[in-house]
Amino acid sequence: MTERERFPRRAGVATLVARRALTPRMLRVTLEAEAFGDDWPAEQPGEILTLLFPPEGEDVVLPEQGWRFPAGVDQPWRNYTVRRHDPRTRRIDVDVLLHEPRGPACTEAARTPVGSRVGYAGPRVDFAPHDDADWLLLCGDETALPAIAAILEQHDERTPALALIEIDGPAEERALDLPRADVRWLHRDGAPAATTTHLADALRALDLPAGRGQVWGAAESRVARDVREVLRGERGLPRRHVSAKGYWLRSGDWILDED
Ligand SMILES: Cc1cc2nc3c(=O)[nH]c(=O)nc-3n(C[C@H](O)[C@H](O)[C@H](O)COP(=O)(O)OP(=O)(O)OC[C@H]3O[C@@H](n4cnc5c(N)ncnc54)[C@H](O)[C@@H]3O)c2cc1C
Repeated sequence: MTERERFPRRAGVATLVARRALTPRMLRVTLEAEAFGDDWPAEQPGEILTLLFPPEGEDVVLPEQGWRFPAGVDQPWRNYTVRRHDPRTRRIDVDVLLHEPRGPACTEAARTPVGSRVGYAGPRVDFAPHDDADWLLLCGDETALPAIAAILEQHDERTPALALIEIDGPAEERALDLPRADVRWLHRDGAPAATTTHLADALRALDLPAGRGQVWGAAESRVARDVREVLRGERGLPRRHVSAKGYWLRSGDWILDED
């Protein structure tokens, strides 16, 4: 996206045409819209799609130019990732984590009947490959999994790639079907999300390859901050080679995402 283009690039209403469980905690919803055809402005894998699953009994209210809503409208728009886009069928898959405590987005994504209207706005680029990178490291929790999967599916195989992903336990590994990728799973074994230091510990212990790297990650806001601190501080990677974003907040205030 050029800087002059405003967000949302596109906003509209899609139809939820399919839903299936990938794992006990990960749901795939398939959205269909005229706008998801050939002229959908996809640039990179794993772009951001902001979604509104309207509360029961309400219809979608779209934002106006500049992301303003009509007075009195308070609908729960949440950010998700384009897991897969098929311009031929005009469909986009989004993988939704059924987290605890449940929020409006994951509650409605699991409940909304097939055929329902879902608001969308986007897309927005989040990951862009560095052409001069000798290796790629992707890391995060379940909310980063859809982006990591989309990135690895389109990744140039000549550049070695490694993914470190923190999940609840072995049953969640099925959310990523990339048998040939070097993916290392970190299990929380029942501990609540963002209460462990698995990701930071694994990054501390990791043998980083030689050469210029690119790191992209996303997780809970404080976990993402720890990832940035370990990689830029303790491991000495240049700041601009490391992007780790807060994708959700466990409690308290958002941590500033410095890219
Ligand atoms: C750019 C971007 C892309 C994202 N892509 C995806 C994606 O593809 N799939 C996906 O599942 N999520 C994704 N997320 C994360 C998602 O937006 C958040 O998890 C969001 O808070 C879910 O909304 P909700 O209405 O279900 O819960 P909220 O109303 O936002 O939160 C309700 C409660 O749940 C807690 N909570 C929120 N998220 C989590 C979580 N992941 N684990 C544990 N507790 C949580 C909150 O702390 C709060 O207490 C993305 C976020 C960003 C910023």
